[in-house]
Amino acid sequence: MVWFREDLRLSDNPALHAAARQGRPVICLYIHMDGRNGERALGGASRWWLDKSLKALSRDIEKLGGQLTVRAGDGSACLDAVIEETGANAVYWNRRYGAVERETDATVKSRLKDRGTDAQSFNARLLVEPWVLKTGSGGFYKVFTPFWKALRGCYEAPAALPRPENLSGPTPDTLGIDELSLHPKSPDWSTGFDAMWQPGETGAHDRLKAFLDGPVDAYPSERDIPGKEDGTSGLSPHLRFGEIGPAQIWRATRAAMESGRVSEDSGWKFLSEIAWREFSYVLLYNRPDFADANYNSDFNHMPWRTDKSALKAWQTGRTGYPIVDAGMRQLWATGWMHNRVRMIVASFLTKHLLLHWRDGEAWFWDTLVDADPASNPASWQWTAGSGADAAPYFRVFNPITQGEKFDANGSYVRQWVPEISDLPDKYLHAPWTADKQALSKANVRLGENYPEPIVEHKAARERALGAYETLKSQRANA
Ligand code: FAD
Repeated sequence: MVWFREDLRLSDNPALHAAARQGRPVICLYIHMDGRNGERALGGASRWWLDKSLKALSRDIEKLGGQLTVRAGDGSACLDAVIEETGANAVYWNRRYGAVERETDATVKSRLKDRGTDAQSFNARLLVEPWVLKTGSGGFYKVFTPFWKALRGCYEAPAALPRPENLSGPTPDTLGIDELSLHPKSPDWSTGFDAMWQPGETGAHDRLKAFLDGPVDAYPSERDIPGKEDGTSGLSPHLRFGEIGPAQIWRATRAAMESGRVSEDSGWKFLSEIAWREFSYVLLYNRPDFADANYNSDFNHMPWRTDKSALKAWQTGRTGYPIVDAGMRQLWATGWMHNRVRMIVASFLTKHLLLHWRDGEAWFWDTLVDADPASNPASWQWTAGSGADAAPYFRVFNPITQGEKFDANGSYVRQWVPEISDLPDKYLHAPWTADKQALSKANVRLGENYPEPIVEHKAARERALGAYETLKSQRANA
Protein backbone atom coordinates (compact mmCIF):
# COMPACT_ATOMS: atom_id res chain seq x y z
CA MET A 1 0.00 0.00 0.00
CA VAL A 2 1.23 3.50 -0.84
CA TRP A 3 -0.03 6.26 1.40
CA PHE A 4 -0.10 9.46 -0.70
CA ARG A 5 0.07 12.76 1.18
CA GLU A 6 2.06 15.68 -0.25
CA ASP A 7 3.46 13.71 -3.17
CA LEU A 8 0.57 13.60 -5.63
CA ARG A 9 2.51 12.20 -8.60
CA LEU A 10 3.37 8.92 -10.24
CA SER A 11 6.80 9.66 -11.70
CA ASP A 12 9.90 9.98 -9.54
CA ASN A 13 7.88 8.99 -6.51
CA PRO A 14 10.20 6.86 -4.31
CA ALA A 15 7.48 5.28 -2.13
CA LEU A 16 5.37 4.33 -5.13
CA HIS A 17 8.39 3.09 -7.04
CA ALA A 18 9.51 0.90 -4.15
CA ALA A 19 6.03 -0.60 -3.85
CA ALA A 20 5.48 -1.16 -7.58
CA ARG A 21 8.87 -2.72 -8.09
CA GLN A 22 7.91 -5.66 -5.89
CA GLY A 23 5.65 -6.87 -8.66
CA ARG A 24 2.70 -7.37 -6.32
CA PRO A 25 -0.65 -5.57 -6.36
CA VAL A 26 -0.44 -2.00 -5.10
CA ILE A 27 -3.15 -0.13 -3.20
CA CYS A 28 -2.98 3.66 -3.67
CA LEU A 29 -4.47 5.40 -0.63
CA TYR A 30 -5.21 9.02 0.19
CA ILE A 31 -6.53 9.91 3.65
CA HIS A 32 -8.12 13.32 4.04
CA MET A 33 -7.22 14.23 7.61
CA ASP A 34 -8.46 17.81 7.33
CA GLY A 35 -6.77 19.21 10.41
CA ARG A 36 -7.17 16.03 12.45
CA ASN A 37 -4.13 14.47 14.12
CA GLY A 38 -3.14 18.01 15.22
CA GLU A 39 -2.13 19.03 11.70
CA ARG A 40 -2.85 22.48 10.39
CA ALA A 41 -6.03 22.36 8.31
CA LEU A 42 -5.56 23.47 4.71
CA GLY A 43 -6.77 26.93 3.75
CA GLY A 44 -9.54 27.49 1.22
CA ALA A 45 -7.33 28.03 -1.84
CA SER A 46 -5.24 24.94 -1.03
CA ARG A 47 -8.41 22.90 -0.71
CA TRP A 48 -9.41 24.09 -4.19
CA TRP A 49 -6.05 22.90 -5.50
CA LEU A 50 -6.15 19.60 -3.63
CA ASP A 51 -9.57 18.80 -5.14
CA LYS A 52 -8.22 19.10 -8.68
CA SER A 53 -4.90 17.49 -7.88
CA LEU A 54 -6.53 14.40 -6.36
CA LYS A 55 -8.80 14.11 -9.38
CA ALA A 56 -5.80 14.29 -11.72
CA LEU A 57 -3.94 11.68 -9.66
CA SER A 58 -6.98 9.45 -9.60
CA ARG A 59 -7.34 9.65 -13.41
CA ASP A 60 -3.63 8.88 -13.87
CA ILE A 61 -3.87 5.84 -11.58
CA GLU A 62 -6.96 4.60 -13.42
CA LYS A 63 -5.09 4.78 -16.72
CA LEU A 64 -2.67 2.25 -15.21
CA GLY A 65 -5.50 -0.05 -14.19
CA GLY A 66 -5.66 1.01 -10.55
CA GLN A 67 -7.78 3.02 -8.15
CA LEU A 68 -7.06 5.92 -5.83
CA THR A 69 -8.75 4.84 -2.62
CA VAL A 70 -9.91 7.89 -0.68
CA ARG A 71 -10.82 7.87 2.99
CA ALA A 72 -11.43 10.69 5.45
CA GLY A 73 -10.74 10.77 9.17
CA ASP A 74 -7.98 9.93 11.60
CA GLY A 75 -4.85 8.82 9.71
CA SER A 76 -4.04 5.73 11.80
CA ALA A 77 -7.62 4.54 12.00
CA CYS A 78 -8.11 4.82 8.24
CA LEU A 79 -4.82 3.03 7.57
CA ASP A 80 -5.79 0.22 9.91
CA ALA A 81 -9.17 -0.16 8.25
CA VAL A 82 -7.72 -0.44 4.74
CA ILE A 83 -5.03 -2.87 5.91
CA GLU A 84 -7.71 -4.98 7.52
CA GLU A 85 -9.93 -4.94 4.44
CA THR A 86 -7.19 -5.73 1.95
CA GLY A 87 -4.62 -7.73 3.91
CA ALA A 88 -1.86 -5.32 2.82
CA ASN A 89 1.42 -6.39 4.43
CA ALA A 90 3.53 -3.33 3.64
CA VAL A 91 2.85 0.42 3.79
CA TYR A 92 5.16 2.92 2.10
CA TRP A 93 5.04 6.72 2.15
CA ASN A 94 7.15 9.79 1.51
CA ARG A 95 8.25 11.84 4.49
CA ARG A 96 6.84 15.13 5.83
CA TYR A 97 8.86 17.53 7.96
CA GLY A 98 6.56 19.43 10.34
CA ALA A 99 6.77 18.39 13.99
CA VAL A 100 3.21 17.07 14.26
CA GLU A 101 3.44 15.25 10.93
CA ARG A 102 6.74 13.62 11.91
CA GLU A 103 5.28 12.50 15.20
CA THR A 104 2.19 11.02 13.52
CA ASP A 105 4.31 9.21 10.97
CA ALA A 106 6.76 7.88 13.56
CA THR A 107 3.92 6.55 15.71
CA VAL A 108 2.26 4.90 12.72
CA LYS A 109 5.55 3.37 11.62
CA SER A 110 6.36 1.82 14.97
CA ARG A 111 2.80 0.54 15.41
CA LEU A 112 2.82 -1.10 11.98
CA LYS A 113 6.22 -2.64 12.57
CA ASP A 114 5.14 -3.99 15.95
CA ARG A 115 2.34 -5.81 14.17
CA GLY A 116 4.71 -7.27 11.61
CA THR A 117 3.65 -4.95 8.76
CA ASP A 118 6.53 -3.63 6.72
CA ALA A 119 6.57 0.21 6.97
CA GLN A 120 9.05 2.31 5.02
CA SER A 121 9.43 6.01 4.33
CA PHE A 122 11.29 7.91 1.61
CA ASN A 123 12.23 11.41 0.50
CA ALA A 124 10.19 12.81 -2.39
CA ARG A 125 9.89 16.42 -1.28
CA LEU A 126 13.37 17.87 -0.90
CA LEU A 127 16.74 17.81 -2.64
CA VAL A 128 18.44 17.22 0.68
CA GLU A 129 16.57 16.40 3.87
CA PRO A 130 16.81 19.02 6.62
CA TRP A 131 19.15 17.06 8.90
CA VAL A 132 21.79 16.35 6.25
CA LEU A 133 23.71 19.59 5.70
CA LYS A 134 25.56 20.87 8.75
CA THR A 135 27.73 23.92 9.31
CA GLY A 136 31.41 23.54 10.26
CA SER A 137 30.41 23.61 13.93
CA GLY A 138 27.82 20.88 13.44
CA GLY A 139 24.67 23.02 13.68
CA PHE A 140 22.02 23.64 11.05
CA TYR A 141 22.36 26.50 8.58
CA LYS A 142 20.75 29.73 9.73
CA VAL A 143 22.05 31.86 6.87
CA PHE A 144 21.00 31.23 3.31
CA THR A 145 24.16 32.00 1.30
CA PRO A 146 26.43 29.41 2.97
CA PHE A 147 23.54 26.94 2.91
CA TRP A 148 23.18 27.41 -0.83
CA LYS A 149 26.94 27.12 -1.33
CA ALA A 150 26.98 23.83 0.60
CA LEU A 151 23.94 22.47 -1.24
CA ARG A 152 25.20 23.42 -4.67
CA GLY A 153 28.61 21.98 -3.83
CA CYS A 154 27.37 18.55 -2.78
CA TYR A 155 24.04 17.87 -4.47
CA GLU A 156 23.73 15.47 -7.36
CA ALA A 157 20.26 14.47 -8.38
CA PRO A 158 19.76 10.70 -8.13
CA ALA A 159 18.60 8.89 -11.28
CA ALA A 160 14.96 9.58 -12.07
CA LEU A 161 12.50 6.86 -11.00
CA PRO A 162 10.11 5.79 -13.76
CA ARG A 163 6.34 5.82 -13.33
CA PRO A 164 4.95 2.33 -12.71
CA GLU A 165 3.54 0.58 -15.79
CA ASN A 166 0.69 -1.12 -14.01
CA LEU A 167 -1.17 -0.24 -10.85
CA SER A 168 -3.94 -2.78 -10.90
CA GLY A 169 -4.77 -4.17 -7.49
CA PRO A 170 -7.53 -4.48 -4.94
CA THR A 171 -10.32 -1.92 -5.06
CA PRO A 172 -11.42 -1.24 -1.49
CA ASP A 173 -14.41 1.01 -0.82
CA THR A 174 -13.59 4.57 -1.59
CA LEU A 175 -15.11 7.98 -1.10
CA GLY A 176 -15.64 10.06 -4.20
CA ILE A 177 -13.32 13.07 -4.21
CA ASP A 178 -16.35 15.37 -4.41
CA GLU A 179 -17.50 13.93 -1.08
CA LEU A 180 -14.54 15.70 0.55
CA SER A 181 -16.25 19.03 -0.31
CA LEU A 182 -12.98 20.71 -1.17
CA HIS A 183 -14.32 22.96 -3.91
CA PRO A 184 -15.77 26.23 -2.54
CA LYS A 185 -19.54 26.65 -2.63
CA SER A 186 -21.83 29.58 -1.93
CA PRO A 187 -20.01 31.62 -2.84
CA ASP A 188 -17.66 29.97 -5.29
CA TRP A 189 -14.82 32.49 -5.17
CA SER A 190 -12.55 30.35 -7.34
CA THR A 191 -13.87 31.33 -10.77
CA GLY A 192 -10.61 33.13 -11.63
CA PHE A 193 -8.43 30.15 -10.70
CA ASP A 194 -9.23 27.89 -13.65
CA ALA A 195 -7.78 30.21 -16.27
CA MET A 196 -4.43 30.30 -14.49
CA TRP A 197 -3.88 26.77 -13.25
CA GLN A 198 -3.83 23.18 -14.35
CA PRO A 199 -3.37 21.24 -11.10
CA GLY A 200 -1.84 17.76 -11.42
CA GLU A 201 1.35 16.12 -12.60
CA THR A 202 0.80 16.88 -16.29
CA GLY A 203 0.18 20.55 -15.56
CA ALA A 204 3.37 20.67 -13.48
CA HIS A 205 5.52 19.21 -16.24
CA ASP A 206 3.92 21.39 -18.92
CA ARG A 207 4.75 24.44 -16.84
CA LEU A 208 8.34 23.37 -16.21
CA LYS A 209 8.88 22.65 -19.89
CA ALA A 210 7.34 25.93 -21.02
CA PHE A 211 9.53 27.81 -18.55
CA LEU A 212 12.77 26.06 -19.49
CA ASP A 213 11.97 26.44 -23.19
CA GLY A 214 12.41 30.21 -23.02
CA PRO A 215 11.36 32.43 -20.11
CA VAL A 216 14.05 31.08 -17.76
CA ASP A 217 16.70 32.93 -19.78
CA ALA A 218 15.37 36.29 -18.67
CA TYR A 219 14.73 35.05 -15.11
CA PRO A 220 17.61 36.93 -13.42
CA SER A 221 16.40 40.29 -14.75
CA GLU A 222 12.63 39.75 -15.08
CA ARG A 223 11.74 37.68 -12.04
CA ASP A 224 11.10 40.95 -10.18
CA ILE A 225 8.64 42.38 -12.71
CA PRO A 226 5.14 41.41 -11.58
CA GLY A 227 3.50 42.54 -14.82
CA LYS A 228 5.56 40.04 -16.84
CA GLU A 229 3.36 37.00 -17.13
CA ASP A 230 6.06 34.33 -17.48
CA GLY A 231 8.80 36.15 -15.54
CA THR A 232 8.76 33.30 -12.99
CA SER A 233 7.92 29.62 -13.32
CA GLY A 234 4.57 29.44 -11.47
CA LEU A 235 5.64 26.03 -10.14
CA SER A 236 5.01 26.76 -6.45
CA PRO A 237 1.59 25.08 -6.01
CA HIS A 238 2.75 22.06 -8.02
CA LEU A 239 5.74 21.76 -5.67
CA ARG A 240 3.53 22.31 -2.65
CA PHE A 241 1.37 19.29 -3.49
CA GLY A 242 4.28 17.22 -4.73
CA GLU A 243 3.00 16.97 -8.30
CA ILE A 244 6.60 17.58 -9.22
CA GLY A 245 9.65 17.16 -7.01
CA PRO A 246 12.60 19.54 -6.72
CA ALA A 247 14.93 16.79 -7.96
CA GLN A 248 12.96 16.65 -11.22
CA ILE A 249 13.32 20.42 -11.59
CA TRP A 250 17.01 20.21 -10.77
CA ARG A 251 17.65 17.48 -13.35
CA ALA A 252 15.71 19.24 -16.12
CA THR A 253 17.37 22.59 -15.42
CA ARG A 254 20.89 21.13 -15.24
CA ALA A 255 20.29 19.20 -18.48
CA ALA A 256 19.13 22.40 -20.19
CA MET A 257 22.24 24.19 -18.91
CA GLU A 258 24.56 21.41 -20.00
CA SER A 259 23.09 21.34 -23.49
CA GLY A 260 23.56 25.12 -23.73
CA ARG A 261 19.81 25.74 -24.07
CA VAL A 262 19.79 27.69 -20.81
CA SER A 263 22.64 29.95 -19.69
CA GLU A 264 24.58 29.06 -16.54
CA ASP A 265 23.59 32.34 -14.89
CA SER A 266 19.88 31.89 -15.49
CA GLY A 267 19.86 28.20 -14.59
CA TRP A 268 21.72 28.70 -11.31
CA LYS A 269 19.61 31.70 -10.37
CA PHE A 270 16.47 29.63 -10.83
CA LEU A 271 17.90 26.70 -8.83
CA SER A 272 18.98 29.06 -6.05
CA GLU A 273 15.31 29.97 -5.58
CA ILE A 274 14.44 26.30 -5.31
CA ALA A 275 17.11 26.28 -2.58
CA TRP A 276 15.22 28.98 -0.64
CA ARG A 277 12.42 26.45 -0.35
CA GLU A 278 14.91 23.87 0.97
CA PHE A 279 16.29 26.42 3.44
CA SER A 280 12.75 27.09 4.71
CA TYR A 281 12.39 23.37 5.42
CA VAL A 282 15.65 23.39 7.39
CA LEU A 283 14.18 26.15 9.54
CA LEU A 284 10.82 24.38 9.94
CA TYR A 285 12.51 21.13 10.90
CA ASN A 286 14.71 22.77 13.51
CA ARG A 287 12.09 25.20 14.83
CA PRO A 288 8.82 23.29 14.72
CA ASP A 289 6.80 26.17 16.23
CA PHE A 290 7.89 28.39 13.37
CA ALA A 291 4.40 29.25 12.07
CA ASP A 292 3.43 30.72 15.47
CA ALA A 293 6.51 31.82 17.31
CA ASN A 294 9.15 34.41 16.46
CA TYR A 295 12.31 32.71 15.35
CA ASN A 296 14.12 35.63 16.98
CA SER A 297 12.51 35.84 20.40
CA ASP A 298 13.50 39.52 20.74
CA PHE A 299 10.42 40.15 18.63
CA ASN A 300 8.25 38.82 21.46
CA HIS A 301 8.48 42.38 22.79
CA MET A 302 7.41 44.04 19.55
CA PRO A 303 4.49 46.42 20.20
CA TRP A 304 2.29 45.10 17.36
CA ARG A 305 -1.03 46.88 16.95
CA THR A 306 -4.50 45.41 16.70
CA ASP A 307 -6.56 47.18 14.06
CA LYS A 308 -9.32 45.17 12.44
CA SER A 309 -10.27 47.76 9.86
CA ALA A 310 -6.65 48.20 8.69
CA LEU A 311 -6.29 44.42 8.42
CA LYS A 312 -9.52 44.23 6.42
CA ALA A 313 -8.37 47.03 4.08
CA TRP A 314 -5.12 45.13 3.48
CA GLN A 315 -6.89 41.80 2.92
CA THR A 316 -9.36 43.25 0.45
CA GLY A 317 -6.88 45.39 -1.48
CA ARG A 318 -8.24 48.76 -0.32
CA THR A 319 -5.24 50.41 1.33
CA GLY A 320 -4.99 53.24 -1.19
CA TYR A 321 -1.48 52.10 -2.20
CA PRO A 322 -1.93 50.71 -5.73
CA ILE A 323 0.90 48.16 -5.76
CA VAL A 324 -0.27 46.73 -2.41
CA ASP A 325 -3.90 46.63 -3.53
CA ALA A 326 -2.97 45.06 -6.87
CA GLY A 327 -1.10 42.26 -5.08
CA MET A 328 -3.88 41.54 -2.61
CA ARG A 329 -6.46 41.44 -5.40
CA GLN A 330 -4.28 39.18 -7.56
CA LEU A 331 -4.05 36.87 -4.56
CA TRP A 332 -7.82 36.81 -4.07
CA ALA A 333 -8.59 36.34 -7.76
CA THR A 334 -5.97 33.71 -8.65
CA GLY A 335 -4.70 32.17 -5.40
CA TRP A 336 -1.19 33.38 -6.17
CA MET A 337 0.86 36.56 -5.92
CA HIS A 338 4.13 37.53 -7.50
CA ASN A 339 7.13 37.22 -5.15
CA ARG A 340 8.19 40.88 -5.37
CA VAL A 341 4.67 41.96 -4.49
CA ARG A 342 4.47 39.40 -1.65
CA MET A 343 7.48 41.16 -0.12
CA ILE A 344 5.89 44.59 -0.62
CA VAL A 345 2.51 43.65 0.89
CA ALA A 346 4.16 41.80 3.78
CA SER A 347 6.37 44.77 4.56
CA PHE A 348 3.32 47.04 4.36
CA LEU A 349 1.37 44.91 6.85
CA THR A 350 4.16 44.48 9.38
CA LYS A 351 5.71 47.93 9.10
CA HIS A 352 3.29 50.50 7.69
CA LEU A 353 0.36 49.00 9.57
CA LEU A 354 2.45 47.54 12.41
CA LEU A 355 0.27 44.43 12.46
CA HIS A 356 1.65 41.08 13.56
CA TRP A 357 3.21 38.95 10.82
CA ARG A 358 1.00 36.10 12.03
CA ASP A 359 -2.07 37.99 10.75
CA GLY A 360 -0.52 38.10 7.30
CA GLU A 361 0.74 34.54 7.43
CA ALA A 362 -2.73 33.30 8.33
CA TRP A 363 -4.36 35.24 5.47
CA PHE A 364 -1.82 33.89 3.00
CA TRP A 365 -2.33 30.40 4.41
CA ASP A 366 -6.01 30.65 3.59
CA THR A 367 -5.76 32.33 0.20
CA LEU A 368 -2.60 31.00 -1.50
CA VAL A 369 -2.78 27.87 -3.64
CA ASP A 370 0.91 27.36 -2.77
CA ALA A 371 0.49 28.00 1.00
CA ASP A 372 3.41 26.04 2.35
CA PRO A 373 4.07 25.09 5.98
CA ALA A 374 7.76 25.98 5.64
CA SER A 375 8.01 28.73 3.00
CA ASN A 376 5.07 30.78 4.22
CA PRO A 377 6.16 31.33 7.83
CA ALA A 378 9.82 31.56 6.77
CA SER A 379 9.04 34.31 4.26
CA TRP A 380 6.75 36.20 6.63
CA GLN A 381 9.34 36.10 9.38
CA TRP A 382 12.02 37.08 6.88
CA THR A 383 10.05 40.19 5.88
CA ALA A 384 9.02 41.08 9.43
CA GLY A 385 12.63 40.89 10.60
CA SER A 386 12.01 38.17 13.17
CA GLY A 387 13.26 35.27 11.03
CA ALA A 388 16.57 33.56 10.39
CA ASP A 389 18.80 35.53 8.02
CA ALA A 390 15.95 38.06 7.95
CA ALA A 391 15.68 41.40 6.20
CA PRO A 392 16.63 43.98 8.82
CA TYR A 393 13.53 45.46 10.43
CA PHE A 394 14.53 48.98 9.47
CA ARG A 395 14.31 48.03 5.79
CA VAL A 396 10.83 49.38 5.19
CA PHE A 397 9.76 48.91 1.58
CA ASN A 398 8.43 52.14 0.13
CA PRO A 399 5.27 51.04 -1.74
CA ILE A 400 5.45 54.06 -4.05
CA THR A 401 9.03 53.69 -5.23
CA GLN A 402 8.73 49.88 -5.32
CA GLY A 403 5.75 50.30 -7.64
CA GLU A 404 7.57 52.83 -9.80
CA LYS A 405 10.64 50.62 -10.05
CA PHE A 406 9.13 47.19 -10.60
CA ASP A 407 5.90 48.16 -12.36
CA ALA A 408 7.29 51.11 -14.29
CA ASN A 409 4.81 50.86 -17.15
CA GLY A 410 1.97 50.23 -14.70
CA SER A 411 0.69 47.11 -16.45
CA TYR A 412 0.37 45.16 -13.19
CA VAL A 413 -1.49 47.85 -11.28
CA ARG A 414 -3.73 48.60 -14.27
CA GLN A 415 -4.69 44.93 -14.52
CA TRP A 416 -5.65 44.53 -10.87
CA VAL A 417 -6.79 48.04 -9.92
CA PRO A 418 -8.80 48.98 -13.01
CA GLU A 419 -10.53 51.92 -11.34
CA ILE A 420 -7.30 53.95 -11.57
CA SER A 421 -6.07 52.53 -14.88
CA ASP A 422 -6.58 55.78 -16.78
CA LEU A 423 -4.20 57.72 -14.57
CA PRO A 424 -0.93 58.67 -16.28
CA ASP A 425 2.11 56.60 -15.24
CA LYS A 426 3.54 59.41 -13.14
CA TYR A 427 0.58 59.31 -10.74
CA LEU A 428 -0.31 55.64 -10.95
CA HIS A 429 1.61 54.51 -7.87
CA ALA A 430 0.58 57.53 -5.78
CA PRO A 431 -2.84 58.71 -7.02
CA TRP A 432 -3.21 61.24 -4.19
CA THR A 433 -0.34 63.27 -5.73
CA ALA A 434 -2.32 63.83 -8.93
CA ASP A 435 -3.95 67.24 -9.41
CA LYS A 436 -7.74 67.57 -9.58
CA GLN A 437 -7.74 67.76 -13.35
CA ALA A 438 -5.71 64.56 -13.82
CA LEU A 439 -7.93 62.72 -11.34
CA SER A 440 -11.12 63.86 -12.98
CA LYS A 441 -9.86 63.07 -16.48
CA ALA A 442 -9.08 59.52 -15.29
CA ASN A 443 -12.45 59.34 -13.50
CA VAL A 444 -10.75 58.72 -10.16
CA ARG A 445 -12.58 60.04 -7.11
CA LEU A 446 -10.35 59.42 -4.12
CA GLY A 447 -12.28 58.28 -1.10
CA GLU A 448 -15.17 57.24 -3.40
CA ASN A 449 -14.16 54.87 -6.17
CA TYR A 450 -10.60 54.35 -4.87
CA PRO A 451 -9.48 54.82 -1.24
CA GLU A 452 -7.29 57.56 0.11
CA PRO A 453 -4.12 55.98 1.59
CA ILE A 454 -5.02 54.43 4.94
CA VAL A 455 -1.68 55.53 6.39
CA GLU A 456 0.72 58.24 5.33
CA HIS A 457 3.97 56.66 4.18
CA LYS A 458 6.47 58.81 6.08
CA ALA A 459 4.54 58.83 9.34
CA ALA A 460 3.95 55.06 9.12
CA ARG A 461 7.62 54.44 8.45
CA GLU A 462 8.61 56.51 11.48
CA ARG A 463 6.07 54.74 13.66
CA ALA A 464 7.52 51.38 12.58
CA LEU A 465 11.08 52.49 13.27
CA GLY A 466 9.97 53.88 16.64
CA ALA A 467 8.42 50.51 17.53
CA TYR A 468 11.64 48.82 16.59
CA GLU A 469 13.59 51.19 18.83
CA THR A 470 11.38 50.28 21.81
CA LEU A 471 12.03 46.64 21.01
CA LYS A 472 15.77 47.29 21.12
CA SER A 473 15.56 49.14 24.42
CA GLN A 474 13.36 46.43 25.96
CA ARG A 475 15.95 43.88 24.89
CA ALA A 476 18.74 45.97 26.44
CA ASN A 477 16.80 46.14 29.73
CA ALA A 478 15.85 42.46 29.71
P1 FAD B 1 9.89 31.01 -9.06
O1 FAD B 1 10.56 32.34 -8.99
O2 FAD B 1 9.69 30.42 -10.38
O3 FAD B 1 10.74 30.05 -8.14
C1 FAD B 1 10.75 28.63 -8.31
C2 FAD B 1 10.41 27.95 -7.00
O4 FAD B 1 11.38 28.27 -6.01
C3 FAD B 1 9.08 28.39 -6.41
O5 FAD B 1 8.01 27.67 -7.00
C4 FAD B 1 9.27 28.06 -4.94
O6 FAD B 1 9.06 26.69 -4.67
C5 FAD B 1 10.75 28.35 -4.73
N1 FAD B 1 10.91 29.71 -4.20
C6 FAD B 1 11.11 30.86 -4.90
N2 FAD B 1 11.28 31.89 -4.04
C7 FAD B 1 11.18 31.38 -2.79
C8 FAD B 1 11.27 31.95 -1.48
N3 FAD B 1 11.52 33.24 -1.27
N4 FAD B 1 11.10 31.14 -0.41
C9 FAD B 1 10.87 29.82 -0.58
N5 FAD B 1 10.78 29.23 -1.81
C10 FAD B 1 10.94 29.99 -2.89
N6 FAD B 1 6.34 30.29 -1.46
C11 FAD B 1 5.63 29.17 -1.38
O7 FAD B 1 5.90 28.21 -2.13
N7 FAD B 1 4.62 29.03 -0.48
C12 FAD B 1 4.28 30.05 0.37
O8 FAD B 1 3.37 29.87 1.18
C13 FAD B 1 4.98 31.27 0.26
N8 FAD B 1 4.65 32.32 1.05
C14 FAD B 1 5.36 33.50 0.92
C15 FAD B 1 5.03 34.58 1.76
C16 FAD B 1 5.72 35.78 1.66
C17 FAD B 1 5.37 36.93 2.57
C18 FAD B 1 6.76 35.91 0.72
C19 FAD B 1 7.53 37.19 0.61
C20 FAD B 1 7.11 34.84 -0.10
C21 FAD B 1 6.42 33.63 0.00
N9 FAD B 1 6.76 32.52 -0.81
C22 FAD B 1 6.05 31.35 -0.68
C23 FAD B 1 7.96 32.54 -1.67
C24 FAD B 1 7.74 32.99 -3.12
O9 FAD B 1 7.05 34.19 -3.16
C25 FAD B 1 7.00 31.96 -3.96
O10 FAD B 1 7.62 30.71 -3.83
C26 FAD B 1 7.03 32.34 -5.44
O11 FAD B 1 6.44 33.60 -5.63
C27 FAD B 1 6.29 31.29 -6.23
O12 FAD B 1 6.21 31.65 -7.58
P2 FAD B 1 7.01 30.85 -8.68
O13 FAD B 1 6.75 29.39 -8.54
O14 FAD B 1 6.69 31.47 -9.98
O15 FAD B 1 8.52 31.16 -8.26
